Amino acid sequence: MRKHTTGLLAIAAASTLALSACGGAEVGGEPEGGSSEGAGDGITIGIKYDQPGLGLKDGAEFTGFDVDVARYVANELGYSEDQITFKETPSANRESMLDNGEVDMIFATYSITDDRKKVIDFAGPYFVAGQDLLVAADNTDITGPEDLEGKNLCSVTGSTSAEKIKTDYAEGVQLLERPGYAECVNSLAAGQVDAVTTDDIILAGLAARNGDGNLKVVGNPFSEENYGVGLPKGSDLCEDINAAITKMIDEGAWEEAVAANTEGADYTPNADLNPPTPAPCA
Ligand code: GLU
Repeated sequence: MRKHTTGLLAIAAASTLALSACGGAEVGGEPEGGSSEGAGDGITIGIKYDQPGLGLKDGAEFTGFDVDVARYVANELGYSEDQITFKETPSANRESMLDNGEVDMIFATYSITDDRKKVIDFAGPYFVAGQDLLVAADNTDITGPEDLEGKNLCSVTGSTSAEKIKTDYAEGVQLLERPGYAECVNSLAAGQVDAVTTDDIILAGLAARNGDGNLKVVGNPFSEENYGVGLPKGSDLCEDINAAITKMIDEGAWEEAVAANTEGADYTPNADLNPPTPAPCA
């Protein structure tokens, strides 16, 4: 059975604990061979460092759903935990860091888009989110993107979120672009912007971790963001990565990772779209 709707309902029921610092997937085992991507006997994986519940660096610890999926997939590809090097891949640098070989693959809330597919390849998707808005908890004016007319909005350079606002709503909205979402949350907390926009799961994690109850996600998603595994153009890893994602879903480790990493974040994945089926490789 590929869909875990019942499990997702269980995830919806789990809600009140602090955002978990650890995910569900364990890695281990011996490598089956070197990387065909030129990484020698290790693999360098791009993640976010500042997105609680998805990709977060806390001292020497890396946590979050993207990190759990990355570890699971790397393990299936034959890499043990100590062969994985995580590297920060900010939104705006992802394509170039794959292209110049700084990272072998990217798990970083990275939406599959036709524009990005011109320069890189994607495996997956392994999750589907939706673009939403983060506002002050007492804000009653902003209930969706149509309310942004004349408002100040923060998003991140190189993201689909900033691009969508520019394409569909820029006329009446003042868009401030920053390098990362944590910076946008600081701008919101300081009253410099009225809202922050990006994927709902990112906003939920930021609100839970940084908001002190003063921030809320509007809860009216207006896009479909299919999170893919970024790969250099021409990579031969797509099929194996898709098989690993499918195994993670079928084994229940995907659902465990979603639950562990969204706990306390007041977030329920869209059960009509999750877990997704990886698309055929190009
Ligand atoms: N998923 C969107 C994107 O890939 C927004 C999140 C991000 O910037 O990582 O651009």
